Amino acid sequence: MKNSNKSTNGVMVEQIANFLDSQSIQYREDASCESCGSKMNYREFHFWLAGNGMAWNIRLPVCAICVQPKVNKLPAHRDAA
Ligand SMILES: [Zn+2]
Repeated sequence: MKNSNKSTNGVMVEQIANFLDSQSIQYREDASCESCGSKMNYREFHFWLAGNGMAWNIRLPVCAICVQPKVNKLPAHRDAA
C-alpha cells in the first residue's frame, strides 16, 4: 500500500508553515514599492491551513498605488497599416 501521497502532503504543509512563519517576521517600517517607489501600507492577512487548524496573522505590504485595478487602455488611434 502506497502512502507517498500523504507524506508529500505533509512536507508541503510543513513548507507552507515555514514560509508563513518567515513572512510573519518580515515587517519593515520603511518598505517601499519596487514598482513605483511609494511607501507601502501594511494590511493584515489571515492565512489558515484547512485540516490541521494552523493559522497565521501576517502583515503584508500593499502598495496603495499599484494595487489599483489596472484598466486596459485601448489604443486611442489604431494605425491601419
Ligand atoms: Zn507601487
